Amino acid sequence: MDLNRLVYASVARPALDYSTLTAILRSAEARNESDGITGILCFGNGYFLQALEGERTKINATYARIMADSRHERCELLAYGPIPFRRYADWSMKLVGLDDKATAQRRSLVLRHSTERLFEPLKMTGDQACHFLEGLALLEGNLL
Ligand code: FAD
Repeated sequence: MDLNRLVYASVARPALDYSTLTAILRSAEARNESDGITGILCFGNGYFLQALEGERTKINATYARIMADSRHERCELLAYGPIPFRRYADWSMKLVGLDDKATAQRRSLVLRHSTERLFEPLKMTGDQACHFLEGLALLEGNLL
């Protein structure tokens, strides 16, 4: 299998509410499970940052659907390439809401990978975004 990881950032539709986030997560989990895709979706400060891991053709098709979704805009690809193993193998899609639990550890993680304290993933490089998501997964208890 050709295992790859894609990371992108986007801007959420204004006033995106909790029930919309839950609906996105439910459809992502169901679809990813059957497509063999794993990953993490971070939402905070009106932005999304997501990593998708799996077979290249499946990832491409998923990203095409995601880009067409009107619940967000300005999708920007930050990183894409082959990986030796999955980082998020336990999660068909893990949602982390940064605004709900702005702990000191999370705030410090944002600052470690950004020029400012605000979570603004569209300003991150691909490396910064990948390392940020890996750090977040560690905080969430995924130690793979
Ligand atoms: P359908 O369910 O048939 O919907 C048709 C169209 O309407 C699609 O363009 C869809 O994007 C859009 N749509 C669906 N529901 C709504 C709604 N409530 N409001 C506005 N537009 C809507 N999908 C995955 O499979 N895996 C993921 O990891 C994943 N991550 C996502 C992350 C984000 C930030 C967002 C916004 C969406 C994500 N999705 C993910 C959902 C994805 O965009 C598609 O909605 C989903 O895959 C179903 O695609 P479909 O073509 O079957 O659309």
